[in-house]
Amino acid sequence: MKITETIAAISSAAGNSGIGIIRVSGDEAIEIVDKIFKSNKKDKKLRNVDSHTVHYGSIVDGDKTLDQVLVIVMKNPHSYTGEDTVEIDCHGGMLILKKVLDLVIKNGARAAEPGEFTKRAFLNGRIDLSQAEAVMDLINSKNDFALNSSMEQLKGSVSEEIKKIRSDIIYHIAFIESALDDPEHISLDGYNEEISEMLKKNISRIKYLIDTFDNGRIMKEGIKTVILGKPNAGKSSLLNLLLGEERAIVTDIEGTTRDTLEENINFNGLSLKIIDTAGIRNTEDKVEQIGVNKAKDIARDGDLIIFVVDGSREMDENDREILELIQDKQAIVLVNKSDMNTVADIEELKKISGRDVIIFSAKKGEGMDLLEQEIRDMFYSGKVTYNDQVYITNARHKEALEGAYESLMKVRDSVMMGMPEDFYSIDLMDAYTDLGFIIGESVEDDLVNEIFSKFCMGK
Ligand code: GDP
Repeated sequence: MKITETIAAISSAAGNSGIGIIRVSGDEAIEIVDKIFKSNKKDKKLRNVDSHTVHYGSIVDGDKTLDQVLVIVMKNPHSYTGEDTVEIDCHGGMLILKKVLDLVIKNGARAAEPGEFTKRAFLNGRIDLSQAEAVMDLINSKNDFALNSSMEQLKGSVSEEIKKIRSDIIYHIAFIESALDDPEHISLDGYNEEISEMLKKNISRIKYLIDTFDNGRIMKEGIKTVILGKPNAGKSSLLNLLLGEERAIVTDIEGTTRDTLEENINFNGLSLKIIDTAGIRNTEDKVEQIGVNKAKDIARDGDLIIFVVDGSREMDENDREILELIQDKQAIVLVNKSDMNTVADIEELKKISGRDVIIFSAKKGEGMDLLEQEIRDMFYSGKVTYNDQVYITNARHKEALEGAYESLMKVRDSVMMGMPEDFYSIDLMDAYTDLGFIIGESVEDDLVNEIFSKFCMGK
């Protein structure tokens, strides 16, 4: 597909800053900027300069100078989009930037849609789809893990994995087709063992990639953490303690429902997305009543539940109900208020919950180390290796992998049931297509190329 329109946008953040950048990309990018750029060197025209050079001058609208700028010229294919690109470094006022952008548009460019520069990089074959998605993830990264994994993905780690599996699959599709076309020269004897070998390897590889998703998501977005406990157990105090840690970085994100608030906390590489169960606290006026139903809903969604027990009081029905609730969840039981006389029956707690408890004091910060260690053990035990592991962190990729997994399992079944070989092709093709969605590759062309390049019959 040939893209002809030249697009432009303010590529730096909205708001005033030291400098602001306007990016112009497309066949006419250089020509358009040439019309409004006046170099300090007489007669210098951008269309005559070398690629990857910087030029000082002014942006002018007729006789009027809008700004003094630096202009960077990058000629295709050596730019982010793969097209001729000009970046105009303006002074970073929103009004200036808007005026310069308007002028660029008046001179022939079109305002870019969100993500359109990256989309062009993809359409021009500079990066594949998973890399394009990695660019977005990179920009939105909230912690080191997210940053590292999206950088790896941008460098092509996910694409490489997918391409390896696809190349195995396409080989077999092509082989079967060739053998069926030309049975005299290509034999399918002993072929079932060969394809079984390939299926075994790749089914387990895909399964492995799918399995990285939960960890990947958790590390990227933070562990969805729900703090439960009856009123006055110390939930808010725990939250404040977590938020108030000096090492904590806090960002507030509006929760998905009106009465929950999500707070992201990163401490020592652990990333918690705490869902503050404000709704549950509202029921405090009803004597020792908790909104168990509400809690159930919220808890169901969580990766981790921190159950805060008030150690200074006897356990009651509320506590038992919460214990019931967390039976099948990843949960940590904190017996809070250890600075006071402990009357809650710790043995009973251990017995009902089936796990160890942490003696804690939100007031004194006692037990924080243990809490942190416990979370680390639950979610990160030896699993955080940034360098040698590919993580799937994108739900779209996971879905595509699941599709491919199903299809390869069907091929395996067909092989085991002794179905004819042309049966395999359909499911192999489905797997190939699904994996192709991840990197955004067109299927038909690939198949044609593969058959002709590897299995040329010499005819
Ligand atoms: P919530 O209703 O579960 O959110 O409980 P809060 O965090 O509001 O705490 C209820 C009361 O218990 C407050 O007066 C807190 O100061 C007190 N509190 C919380 N944690 C501790 C603790 O570890 N020790 C003591 N002594 N008091 C605590």
